[in-house]
Amino acid sequence: MTEKELFFRYLGLPSMNPIGLDIVKAEGAHIYDRSGNEYLDMVSGITVSNTGHRHPAVIDAIRKQLELYLHVNVYGEFIQSPQVMYAKALAEHLPPELDSVFFVNSGSESTEGALKLAKRYTGRPGIVAFRNGYHGSTHGALSVCGHESLKTAFRPLLPGITFLRYNNCSDLGQINSGTACVIAETTQAEAGLIPSDPGFLLKLRQRCNETGSLLIFDDIQMGMGRTGYLFSFELYKVIPDILLLAKALGGGMPLGAFIAGKKIMESLASDPELGHITTFGGHPVSCAAGLASFNVLTAGDLISGAEKKGAFLEKMLMDDPLVSGQKVIREVRRKGLAFGLDLADPLKHEAFLKACFRKGIIVDFYLFREASFRLAPPLTISYEEMEQAGGMLARAIAEIA
Ligand code: PMP
Repeated sequence: MTEKELFFRYLGLPSMNPIGLDIVKAEGAHIYDRSGNEYLDMVSGITVSNTGHRHPAVIDAIRKQLELYLHVNVYGEFIQSPQVMYAKALAEHLPPELDSVFFVNSGSESTEGALKLAKRYTGRPGIVAFRNGYHGSTHGALSVCGHESLKTAFRPLLPGITFLRYNNCSDLGQINSGTACVIAETTQAEAGLIPSDPGFLLKLRQRCNETGSLLIFDDIQMGMGRTGYLFSFELYKVIPDILLLAKALGGGMPLGAFIAGKKIMESLASDPELGHITTFGGHPVSCAAGLASFNVLTAGDLISGAEKKGAFLEKMLMDDPLVSGQKVIREVRRKGLAFGLDLADPLKHEAFLKACFRKGIIVDFYLFREASFRLAPPLTISYEEMEQAGGMLARAIAEIA
């Protein structure tokens, strides 16, 4: 059997129709397959590789940690330098009210931890979430998912969840004194990159203050420099009570975190003690890799460059005669180096994806907006690589026109 056949035979897969690229190597913004094809990665493994694939500083940090120790005990018992130093670095770049970092393994787990923390701290049962929001695939995280398609088959899910319309200020009145927390994205990523309206997050913050509900921002996809800010909430000047990070947090290794103020976080350590526990959370290799990637992001000009690069790519693509002459793309939404581009004809999305792969470029779609495709290249992408990518995208667009 070929490896492709073994893949279909032995792996449990979430889709009957996977992309199925057979990977041998990835470096920077490039991915290479077994047939010798080279691809420009324009999605960063879904916003994970913000510092590119195999950044030398990340590889070096992983190598150093491998020489010292791998897993030594469950999370939170032993003092492990990569966790301590990464938590300190994160806290130093966050507002003072977000100074306690609880490491987990993934985005879904950070959602789980945050929902539990809010219920435990406030003693309240209610959770408020937004339609078309996405926060992960485990039972708790799925319960706050604001799109029915992924949920129906798995009921019953968590009770006591109210869904509000995103960007609708009059719905915020439904947040009340029984609400433990409100979970929101500053830009709804899987909805197709739908930004929050000016002032909406501020009103949400005010309503949470009035009712004593904790505000959770899910920055799992839009965080770590993607929007041109290290954390996307900086763009809106609204500070959450709990911040969720994952994806690019680990520099290519699995890592998640929920971050809160020390006083709030301490409520997980009593009544009951061990209120949230994880074996592998904050794995030392993941934290070493994540910290190295974080240092690359914060020391250089990758974050400030994200907006400039995004604007360049958008202009180049939309001005390309192959694109501007067509009506293939109906709308472009962009935050820094994250794009949601709506195809005028959603039925063409399969054909478009295939055309992109044939041209040597990796793009993807969003979960809840069929017509919309995702561009989110590594923040390390060069202008030359963006020119190549723009040309390939334009040719793919012309092909399906
Ligand atoms: N929240 C958001 C905004 C996400 O984009 C994702 C992943 N797509 C998650 C949560 C869940 O993260 P994970 O897949 O690591 O569990």
